[in-house]
Amino acid sequence: MDVEDTQAQPLPPLNKSASRNSMDECISWFHGKITRDAAEHILDVGGSSEGLFLIRESTSSPGDYVLSLIHNKSPIHYQIRRHGEDAFFSIDDGPIVHGLEMLITYYQENAQGLSTKLNEMCKGQPPPPDSRRHGRTNLLHRATKEGEVTVVRELLKSGYHNLDAKNQEGQTAVHLASIMGFNDILDLLLVVGANPNIRDGSGLTPLHYASKNNEPETVAVLLRHKANPQLRATESGWVPLHYAAFLGYTEVLNVLLEMKCPCHPRSNYNETPLDLAKKNKHKECISILENYVAAPPTSSRSEWFHEDLDREKAMSLFRSEGLKDGMFLVRRSSRRKDIYVLSVVHNSHPFNYEIQRKETFYFIDDGPYLDSLDHLVEHYSNMADGLPTNLVQPIPPGTESLDIPSNSKDKDVENLIYNNVAANVVYREKKTPPKVRKIDPISRPNLIRRESLKLGDSIGEGEFGSVLCGKWLNLDNIEVNVAIKTMRDEQVQRCREEFIREVEVMVGLDHPCVVKLLGVCLGPPLMMVQELVPMGSLFDYLLDFQDEINVHDLILWSAQIAWGMTYLESKRFVHRDLAARNILLSSKTEAKISDFGLSRAIGTGSEYYKASTGGRWPVKWYAPESINYGTFSHASDVWSYGITLWELFTYGDPPYGDMTGMQVIQLLECNQRLSIPEDCPEKIQKVMSQCWQYNPENRPTFKQLYSSFCTDVDYKPLWNFFKCEEEIL
Ligand code: AMP
Repeated sequence: MDVEDTQAQPLPPLNKSASRNSMDECISWFHGKITRDAAEHILDVGGSSEGLFLIRESTSSPGDYVLSLIHNKSPIHYQIRRHGEDAFFSIDDGPIVHGLEMLITYYQENAQGLSTKLNEMCKGQPPPPDSRRHGRTNLLHRATKEGEVTVVRELLKSGYHNLDAKNQEGQTAVHLASIMGFNDILDLLLVVGANPNIRDGSGLTPLHYASKNNEPETVAVLLRHKANPQLRATESGWVPLHYAAFLGYTEVLNVLLEMKCPCHPRSNYNETPLDLAKKNKHKECISILENYVAAPPTSSRSEWFHEDLDREKAMSLFRSEGLKDGMFLVRRSSRRKDIYVLSVVHNSHPFNYEIQRKETFYFIDDGPYLDSLDHLVEHYSNMADGLPTNLVQPIPPGTESLDIPSNSKDKDVENLIYNNVAANVVYREKKTPPKVRKIDPISRPNLIRRESLKLGDSIGEGEFGSVLCGKWLNLDNIEVNVAIKTMRDEQVQRCREEFIREVEVMVGLDHPCVVKLLGVCLGPPLMMVQELVPMGSLFDYLLDFQDEINVHDLILWSAQIAWGMTYLESKRFVHRDLAARNILLSSKTEAKISDFGLSRAIGTGSEYYKASTGGRWPVKWYAPESINYGTFSHASDVWSYGITLWELFTYGDPPYGDMTGMQVIQLLECNQRLSIPEDCPEKIQKVMSQCWQYNPENRPTFKQLYSSFCTDVDYKPLWNFFKCEEEIL
């Protein structure tokens, strides 16, 4: 039997089919995983009318989306963040809405914090099923609801791919099978990978339905297939055990407990299942819950408990172990010895959670009450349940940190920044504490054989041609990820000299905050091979992920750029194109200076470089003496650094808006400057104005700028805690 046959089965007619089709028409604003440039092109072709919009999949943050819209004839991009594992989304500080289509409807009705409300859409396709709150009834829904096991089996056999599609109520086939108690069908669906952890339009999962419908066998099937018993109903925060206790369903209660669901989860109103059973006087349930004894824990303190480890040392231990996802330890709070703290690594960042106590129980935030510290670790090893990751790799007590001891303030900061940028590699490869590497004395680039390079997709467009990602089988026979700057044929004659000059500048540079040149391939075509800086331009990141960036990130990047520029200054190079677009991000905490196309060495005995040709100068980043006389120095780079800081603290606004280069010059000559960004810390405001002193001699040097980040006590907590997460203790 093939799918055609199955469609001939006598199934009930669908209702409202016309409105369903038109519903899909109304939400055909999705354009898949396209780049920001492609989105801007589509909006442009679409006519750039006010409020024209499209949705695309985020290329750097899986599960998230990006809203691209037109305001005042220019494209603006907003990140749409997904919350948790289900289809809950928000933009900036706006409300969290269930379903991407509902979020868009919300912003079609009202701008609510966007620069304009959404108007006309750029037509694409309807959004993917797992992002939606509601869908439309399909063949699988109908067959499931009717209990047609054979039809379902044949549909699945024929590779039916819409397993998690939702119907009008936002229910998947797994919901329907669970509601009806059709366990054969449920099993078939789950075996082929249908997701048991989706919420429907009422905020309930299949396991909620099975529990509130008193279907113990269905509950068991779902749990065997990794249904998450800790998912909460959206409104009440009840998990399935709450329903069973509230309704007095002892069999369901027993199945849930036998399958190791926590016995004392808490609702949004802090109620436990025992509270609900007592409220409804379900004596048997009360007795089961009161007498429940958790199985002995499989995890023990000897694997992860550190009696005497403060926050800083814990971070240092994580760093020395490579900051892998799910690494964790439990320690005592250094300030309050009676409190335990769980420290866990996610996305290379340590997160800290206070473990609280109530009577004999242990718990984190609004998580379940657990019988002991060991049970708590076991629970969060089995499921993340609100943490950013589940606990995977314990760091045992007695593990020695290979991180650098912090003695002097300056060294400390230098090392910390260094760790952020380069140390992981050093630790992993050499198992020795990192040192700031010596400058490579070799001044000729590696020649890279064409056969050792594999060219991949384009990751950017540069002055000479495309920048590709690729792989290089290096001299140690190790394949490494690289970025390859290519030169278009027609550019070879025109740009060869500039290309070679960029290579000449980069070849002697070796610093954690400067993109490294690995070599040159003579091709043809001529190619520059650089370390791959995977997250791309900081400028794009500022625009796309504004709501994920906080002031600590901005200050960390500012300090890293100042450090890299201090190094360039020590090598007597002026960059001449310092701007957010030329800073690349290796990770959220590693910024690197790139694009040395305009850079020049300053000869000894001279303090500046005089340009003989104008070319395409980024005037809005230039100091008055560079615009007026074509002189470039470290001090003019410092001016550009001030503009770069301004870009950072405005999250990527264009400096001087629509003003022409000539108007900018006039403004500067009248002693006016860019206005200080909103919410910019006072100290950064001061740095900006110092960088924009008219007389170059009155500007700070990069060394001074960098050491102010190192020595100013106001920045100290940043270095210690490294990242933006809130300090909890
Ligand atoms: P550029 O020619 O240096 O202006 O590079 C153009 C674009 O290519 C940049 O904006 C980045 O998005 C990308 N790019 C350049 N170099 C690298 C690199 N080393 N790693 C990753 N992306 C890069």
